[in-house]
Amino acid sequence: MMMNPPDIDLDFDRNHIWHPYTSMHEPLPVYPVRSASGSIIELEDGRQLVDGMSSWWAAIHGYNHPQLNAAMTQQLGAMSHVMFGGLTHAPAVQLAQRLVELTPQPLQKVFFSDSGSVAVEVAIKMALQYWQAAGKPTKHRLLTVRSGYHGDTFAAMSVCDPVTGMHGLFRQVLAQQLFAEAPQCGFYQPWDDSYIKDLERQLAVHADEIAAVIIEPVVQGAGGMRFYSPHYLVRLRELCDRYGVLLIFDEIATGFGRTGRMFALEHAGVTPDILCVGKALTGGYLSLAATLTTDALAGMISDGEPGLFMHGPTFMANPLACAVAVASIDLLCDQNWQQTVWEIEQRLQQGLAPCKELPGVVDVRVLGAIGVVELAQPVDMAQIQRQFVDCGVWVRPFGRLVYLMPPFIVTPNELQQLTAAVFSVLTQDDSPQ
Ligand SMILES: *Cc1c(COP(=O)(O)O)cnc(C)c1O
Repeated sequence: MMMNPPDIDLDFDRNHIWHPYTSMHEPLPVYPVRSASGSIIELEDGRQLVDGMSSWWAAIHGYNHPQLNAAMTQQLGAMSHVMFGGLTHAPAVQLAQRLVELTPQPLQKVFFSDSGSVAVEVAIKMALQYWQAAGKPTKHRLLTVRSGYHGDTFAAMSVCDPVTGMHGLFRQVLAQQLFAEAPQCGFYQPWDDSYIKDLERQLAVHADEIAAVIIEPVVQGAGGMRFYSPHYLVRLRELCDRYGVLLIFDEIATGFGRTGRMFALEHAGVTPDILCVGKALTGGYLSLAATLTTDALAGMISDGEPGLFMHGPTFMANPLACAVAVASIDLLCDQNWQQTVWEIEQRLQQGLAPCKELPGVVDVRVLGAIGVVELAQPVDMAQIQRQFVDCGVWVRPFGRLVYLMPPFIVTPNELQQLTAAVFSVLTQDDSPQ
């Protein structure tokens, strides 16, 4: 039996609900969604859009996946949630087992939290507690590179790009961190040691104050969709060891196959002291993140005052989220996802190549299942969003960046629709030049 779609009160949405990074005066239009399945987002008016965003890196298996639905339903019948203080459960243990197995061998300890930003807060707190316990409390600052993005909470904000991030707005309360030049060596470019000189200099000068370096390995996401040489990470690991500084990798965007490797750190063969994962962890079903660390770090933290790691979110290791994460990881590992991502990469290369010739385009780059068209000028959001919807695709640019990161289940035909839409929208006369 067909059910009537619920009436959605868009005026109420407009007047009462904050969307990400929006004004409450003149908010840009939002498109009401009725349902989503596979790579298709269906709007309330019946229009079907091919999803080019995976809902911000998360929905790697597409929407409404039968195996993920089954895992959630089964877990729902057992329990949707119990507190994690003093209790444990199979979904948390199974998920931690998979994370320990999939990540580099030294990463043995898992801390679950509810979102990527919190996973970053936890990583920073681990680094700070480590140096407190090690008797070096002056090591409490973070060193990072420009053009990074690590989340919207306060410690995470303090290591986002100081110009495009929110530093100006919150100068009084943000921790004053250190920033080195963003990695300038492209992914395929030959390495030269001059590319890491600035970071090395800051390490040499400030080693006594620096707790850790935090960085997104290989792909800088929301801070600019930049790809850089894996060799940067090899040198970074050496420098952190030489100067006695911990290394934190934020793989919240890159984890679970997006760059063509399970984790982007595999391009470099480098192991950090602390690793953050999130976003695609649950296949986009629920918010869940994890911070992994080594026995050595966990041991030192537990030796220090007060002998505990001081964090414990209410919804820590939520069983529904853990169960769907286990199902998502198994679904990924049970298929030849490397081949799938490689094929998406080839099709993105081919499909986006014509954009290189367009006026106003300064760069087109592809890595794994990520395709980026960088423009000289920022887009007009309201207008370009409507143009993409009119083309039957869901693509949401930011600033000067129009990018695609489709779910891995995208078909060649759907991918062709996505790349053709990008070309067509950027060709339209009233598009930004
Ligand atoms: C999205 C993102 C975060 C923040 O994750 P939330 O779940 O939005 O809090 C942190 N780091 C990176 C690299 C991200 O892409």
